[in-house]
Amino acid sequence: MAQFPAGHVPLIATLLRWLRPRPGSLDDTLWHAACARLPWVAALEPERRERLRALAARFLHEKTITPLAGLQLDDGERVLLAALCCLPLLEFGPAGLRGWSQLLVYPDAFRVRRSHVDAAGVLHEWDDDLAGEAWDHGPLILSWADVRADLEDPAAGYCVAVHEMAHKLDVLDGELDGTPPLPARWHREWARDFQCAYEAFCAQVDAGRETAIDPYAAEAPEEFFAVATEYHFSAPSLLAEAMPEVAAHLARFYGPPPAL
Ligand SMILES: [Zn+2]
Repeated sequence: MAQFPAGHVPLIATLLRWLRPRPGSLDDTLWHAACARLPWVAALEPERRERLRALAARFLHEKTITPLAGLQLDDGERVLLAALCCLPLLEFGPAGLRGWSQLLVYPDAFRVRRSHVDAAGVLHEWDDDLAGEAWDHGPLILSWADVRADLEDPAAGYCVAVHEMAHKLDVLDGELDGTPPLPARWHREWARDFQCAYEAFCAQVDAGRETAIDPYAAEAPEEFFAVATEYHFSAPSLLAEAMPEVAAHLARFYGPPPAL
């Protein structure tokens, strides 16, 4: 490879960026049809909906959406998936799309093989049925049946697509720990408030008490963040009542929740 003086590198990077094809704009009919099917998008104010449209166009430009196991997705369904995945990026912006290129979509919940070696060195193996999964630097995977179920009951506290996108944002700083990349001071406040809420939540689950949000959030700090993200978009009042500090951080990070 030719060697360039260091000072030339930014210019070359700029030229390469400029030469890359720009994301196209989304077809009006497809976009409006997707908005009509997405209650969270329909409830956004017009300026934010336009911002989401640009993000979705960029998503479709940068990512390959691959339906698996006999599933077929038409252009409208691809726009719908792109818009849904970009909802958590309304404030964060397109930098939230970094680090991966594939969205894989199964028709239904998919089975993955898990294994774990315990402290005594014994190997445990089991199967998990998943609605979605986000690999650290690999694909984002969704079950189409679960995406559709979320749309049918948009205020129920579930939205697998934003859950998996929360994991993608979380890992951008190199660590999947329930804290996305934030300015230093906010990062400290976030870590403190989430840790406090997470510990209180785990204590409730351990005591067998009923919880306001899905007890799956007690699995790990990163799951707590991803599950709280689902509630931010689909049941924000419930989240604000149960965990006001967490809800306030998410409202700052994602912008105000859509008023369903
Ligand atoms: Zn998760």
